[in-house]
Amino acid sequence: MSSSIPIADPDDYEICPYDPVHRVQSRRMVYHLEKCRKNFPMKKTRICPFNNKHRIPEPEFRYHMVLCPDKAILDQDLKHERMVYEHKSYTRIN
Ligand SMILES: [Zn+2]
Ligand SMILES: [Zn+2]
Repeated sequence: MSSSIPIADPDDYEICPYDPVHRVQSRRMVYHLEKCRKNFPMKKTRICPFNNKHRIPEPEFRYHMVLCPDKAILDQDLKHERMVYEHKSYTRIN
């Protein structure tokens, strides 16, 4: 696991974006969101800027921005691959 993920303390509790009654440990949030999103109709999704195959329910978007597996790859390659990536983003649309 990368230690560069800019979530505070993994043992800190965060408030679930779907239901503020839910308080979830940061490191459990991904799993929680997977379960919790099933309880809520997906009104609106956003496309991940790191991978346009990811469609993220709006409330989860900021978590996905932190946790997206493609972001880690992109971060490594960002310096020299930014232009290439942007080009791919266009050509990869279904
Ligand atoms: Zn929840
Ligand atoms: Zn993503």
